[in-house]
Amino acid sequence: MRSMKYSKMFPGTQKNAPKDAIAVNHKLLVRAGYIDQLMAGSWTLLPLGMKVVAKISDIIRREMNAVGSLEIAQPLMHPKEIWNETGRWEKAAEVMYQLKDSRKREFALSFTHEEIIMDLVRKFAPSYKDLPLSLYQFTTKFRNETRPQGGILRGREFMMKDAYSLHTSEADLMAFYEIMKQAYLKIFERVGLEVKVTEASGGVFTENRTHEFQAVAEAGEDTIYFCEKCNWAENKEIFRVGEAVNKCPKCGEGKILDARAIEVGNIFPLGKGYAEKMNAFYTDKDGSKKPMWFGSYGIGTSRLMGAVVEVFHDAKGIKWPEAVAPFQIYLVSLGAGDPEMRKAGEIYSLLQKEGIEVLWDETDRGAGEKFADADLIGIPVRLVVSPKTGDKIEWKRRESDKAELIDAREAIMRLNNYK
Ligand code: ATP
Ligand code: MG
Repeated sequence: MRSMKYSKMFPGTQKNAPKDAIAVNHKLLVRAGYIDQLMAGSWTLLPLGMKVVAKISDIIRREMNAVGSLEIAQPLMHPKEIWNETGRWEKAAEVMYQLKDSRKREFALSFTHEEIIMDLVRKFAPSYKDLPLSLYQFTTKFRNETRPQGGILRGREFMMKDAYSLHTSEADLMAFYEIMKQAYLKIFERVGLEVKVTEASGGVFTENRTHEFQAVAEAGEDTIYFCEKCNWAENKEIFRVGEAVNKCPKCGEGKILDARAIEVGNIFPLGKGYAEKMNAFYTDKDGSKKPMWFGSYGIGTSRLMGAVVEVFHDAKGIKWPEAVAPFQIYLVSLGAGDPEMRKAGEIYSLLQKEGIEVLWDETDRGAGEKFADADLIGIPVRLVVSPKTGDKIEWKRRESDKAELIDAREAIMRLNNYK
């Protein structure tokens, strides 16, 4: 589905937001036809939403491959025994969906995959030559969130990219951790979202400090503190109040500011505790067995779509950054006469041939309705072909009020510049 006609889109737009919707991403993504709610915290990605998440995933995949991580896909239902090895069956019981089958065997639905990855790797008895090793996957995660709210920002079932890395030493782990941090920054930059790398605690994952990637937005559930001058930032859980009145502990100059933010990613230098508990050893040069050093790296891909909407919208609808927009062009044909339809059809084919993704609103609806949908759906460029545009087309960017008449070749040149 690189390009398509609006009349074939499922399910189309809706006039009103759901009554219970408070968050902007909830209202706009539902109205524009990106997501649909099955029950609290549980969402269908509709064709438009699937396209956006696929684009986000492609950006992530490219950066994971670039740092040498290998893509896999693991099961989502896990035996209790493996989670017992680290004690997390008990320790993380609140967040895990735990269930029994008809033979009374106990399972958990994946809320993360550390133990399952560690079990996989230890099976193959790696030697020092096999390390470092990094694996990643895009899978559904399940979490028993007691107050799923904020639209797609917090699901009980959601999409995550999780990566893991295994090393022979702490130094090697920390060097790779830094590489991953940079890869994450590239990902968010390519998505078009500004994030702050924020120091945080490790929750049920680790006693070490971790790093969260926080997108500043009013709808965020987290509060972060950051330096106005340098890149120092801490989240609320570890921030000590006394720090607020003082200057930045890192650069000694900047004031400390606070803001609401959405956590879109989190990386964890887990250390060797997991391997020690799970007897996950590698064979060193001298033949001795040593525990593997472990890191874990997560991005909520469905949450990221919601975060982008929270940051990029106006009263009329969504304003997607180029890189994650479901289509590049919203082509509107006005006037159902043969000449307009023929011309719009020609432009549609021409754009497709250029590899540009077009959503063509070829319905017989009025201009007002079509333009309102264009703004709501939020595709970066709107092109209009009408009896008034002659042999030109009208070009308008989503964020601008100004429309201009240009010819098709000029439009293609501009679009290729954005790529
Ligand atoms: P939160 O504090 O928001 O509950 P978390 O710190 O528990 O999130 P992590 O375990 O760090 O989440 O998971 C990695 C990433 O997965 C998060 O940074 C976030 O982007 C995403 N994520 C976590 N929980 C959810 C959820 N319930 N719905 C959607 N995405 C989520
Ligand atoms: Mg986290």
